[in-house]
Amino acid sequence: MSAQIPFIDLHAQRRRIEPDLRERMDAVLEHGQFVLGAEVADLERRLGEFAGVEHVVGCANGTDALVLTLRALGVQAGDHVIVPSFTFCATAEAVVLCGAIPVFAEVDARTFNISEATVAAALESCSAAAIAPVGIIAVDLFGQPVDYSALHALVADRGIWILADGAQSFGGSFGDRRVGSLARVTTLSFFPAKPLGCYGDGGAILTDDADLAQLLRSLRFHGMGTHQYDNVRVGFNSRLDTLQAAVLLAKLEVFEDELRVRQEVAARYSAGLGDVAIVPLVADTAVSAWAQYTLTFESGRRDAVAAALRAQGIPTGIYYPLPLHQQTAYRGYPVAGAGLPTSEMLASQVLSLPIHPYLDPSVQARIIELVRDNV
Ligand SMILES: *Cc1c(COP(=O)(O)O)cnc(C)c1O
Repeated sequence: MSAQIPFIDLHAQRRRIEPDLRERMDAVLEHGQFVLGAEVADLERRLGEFAGVEHVVGCANGTDALVLTLRALGVQAGDHVIVPSFTFCATAEAVVLCGAIPVFAEVDARTFNISEATVAAALESCSAAAIAPVGIIAVDLFGQPVDYSALHALVADRGIWILADGAQSFGGSFGDRRVGSLARVTTLSFFPAKPLGCYGDGGAILTDDADLAQLLRSLRFHGMGTHQYDNVRVGFNSRLDTLQAAVLLAKLEVFEDELRVRQEVAARYSAGLGDVAIVPLVADTAVSAWAQYTLTFESGRRDAVAAALRAQGIPTGIYYPLPLHQQTAYRGYPVAGAGLPTSEMLASQVLSLPIHPYLDPSVQARIIELVRDNV
């Protein structure tokens, strides 16, 4: 009956920024500094201004951003790090890649994020098992920042760091602060499908800690010291390439406007569906970057709704079909408390609808109607 619509319409965005994008990419082809060229430093400065943070270190992708940061924070083999189970695998993968042990924590059913209550429960079960976690990776799932001030208050006297995995939330805010300045250190991903995405892989780390930033700059470049051929530690090859920085600079020009439109799209979904499904709850003082718009169906109708939409050419996503503590690769790691029933329940009930700034309101009205007809 109707043509397939994209889950995220990157073509519409490209048509909007095309002349600026081409000009910026051509400039890189001309100067030929393909790794850590001037555009990378320019982007790092612009991202810092946007987020209200002093230091930004570009790197190869969001997973590397986590690994580099864990290494810079001094994570050692055998250390324990609390992570949510209901997230993308990279959050726990980075911990394991450092030789450390993820401890899976529960999330809140309405915000999809770890909370003061779920982290308190995780800390309690760690003490009961004589485990002293060195840190927490909080994930701003689907674009909404975690309530970091509540978490900071909880761990203030324990010497535990908090790393914000902001791969999905750049552009979001909590109170008067933007993602990037909410925790001691924040990691970003510029994977194409993220709210701010490039045309390949890219990532960044944001912090106000000058020493941490300096260490991260060394670690991303083979552990360099005062110059490239001064190797003072074992590091990584994890740099953001210049063409991707040029793409991101073009996209940053329209990013504020895109974020504004994303709020409108999300508001239309919530107004149209709040009486037939559980719509995402955003805290009063928070703004989500709406990487995903995720409904929860308590009725068992999730798969039927997805099938009905698919039949009409409308794609949906299930993020995530299995919580990490149940994944083959992560089954052997400790789980807080007696299990994670909320994470397991969400995996069977969530459905993400198409959301992007170029979603036509009439198409969106059709999506809403189809969901309503099939719940
Ligand atoms: C996308 C994502 C990552 C990893 O980013 P890549 O750039 O794909 O390596 C990490 N954490 C979360 C929560 C993500 O959504």
